[in-house]
Amino acid sequence: MAAKLQAPRGTFDVLPEDGQRRRELYRRAGSVLGRYGYRPFETPVIEDTDLFARGVGESTDIVRKEMFTFEDRGGRSLTLRPEGTAGVARAYVEHGMHKLPQPVKLWYWGPFFRHERAQAGRYRQFAQVGTEALGSDDPSLDAESILLLAELLEAAGVHEVRLRLASLGSLEARAAYLDKLRGYLREHEGELSEDVQGRIDANPLRAFDADHPGTRAVMAGAPRLLDNLSGDDAEHFAEVRALLDGAGVSYDVDPTLVRGLDYYTRTVFEFESGRLGAQSGVGGGGRYDGLVEQLGGPATPGVGWAAGIERILLASDSELGGFPRPVYVAVADDGGRREAFALATALREAGIRTELEQAGRSLKGQLKHADRLGAKAVAIVGEGIEWKDMGTGEQRSVTNAQEAVRIAVGLEP
Ligand code: AMP
Repeated sequence: MAAKLQAPRGTFDVLPEDGQRRRELYRRAGSVLGRYGYRPFETPVIEDTDLFARGVGESTDIVRKEMFTFEDRGGRSLTLRPEGTAGVARAYVEHGMHKLPQPVKLWYWGPFFRHERAQAGRYRQFAQVGTEALGSDDPSLDAESILLLAELLEAAGVHEVRLRLASLGSLEARAAYLDKLRGYLREHEGELSEDVQGRIDANPLRAFDADHPGTRAVMAGAPRLLDNLSGDDAEHFAEVRALLDGAGVSYDVDPTLVRGLDYYTRTVFEFESGRLGAQSGVGGGGRYDGLVEQLGGPATPGVGWAAGIERILLASDSELGGFPRPVYVAVADDGGRREAFALATALREAGIRTELEQAGRSLKGQLKHADRLGAKAVAIVGEGIEWKDMGTGEQRSVTNAQEAVRIAVGLEP
């Protein structure tokens, strides 16, 4: 026997039951996003590697260790996108969207790729839904983004949600703070993990994220960015909080919140669910006021988030819409096959989910199968059409296909 093939490590097949839940989540997400004025948008799954090196940041884990990068046949370095914001910012510049009325509000849904250690809730190919609002630094956009994600998670039936919120300040204020933090880390260098030591210059903020006990002890006493915000940044953050308070959104201000991407400025946030294990992050995002300029565009503020589809579904106990119960078209004898096919087509055209006998079962076998499928009714096609209501068990002859369709349309869902 030929060797069996398997899906690559960290990837998965979406089996029909999950496919249905994903579809329903997509529908609900689209409805919430539309209400907030966000429009659907897509970028390619592959981009120039340089986009992520420049956009996400050379010192991030994503760029250093997690990208699927390859050379195409023309010798260009391409990367399977590990996140969505850099691509959207690239497209904003490429299509001159700064000339449109601002802010430009976009949402996307699609696959993303990170070469991470695969475990429950962490995959190498996963899907995200996300938003970006570009062209305004108004704090109401930050609050609106957060509110929008909270509403989407609620619509998806995600439970035990906790929101963590912080501000990273502007890039300039952050630079001054980072110098202070580097100084502090150097004073305690011997107590830090090797990984953190190696990144004191490039990315000292990641020290807040470390699991290493010695590093954690040092970080408990480290200067906090939130206590070092400049006047404008502090005011911006206060306004975001006031808007969230007004909207009745509860959150914890968490000065240790660091996101794994370099482009964030000012507001950052993360939603977690107690329903998830170690990988508790459902979605997160923040403001990125320097990103578009860094990618060669005009100075353009922006704010957005991304949420993991698989994590949302893991943390949701909502049915997310079952399949409607079908009408089953059974074939009493071979002579009825074409009529049965025509009846199934007419039922489907009338908007009814219809299953048709297509596997050579006996009539008894077909009725059993209809039962298994949870059919509301069975139309048995032979000499004529027998209509069997599976709820009441009642059976009667109907004169023709039109009458069968009329009865089916009138059935309870
Ligand atoms: P990030 O861009 O890292 O903030 O990710 C945003 C969201 O995407 C996270 O909160 C997760 O829900 C999801 N996510 C990120 N990485 C993975 C992964 N490797 N597997 C599954 N979901 C992920």
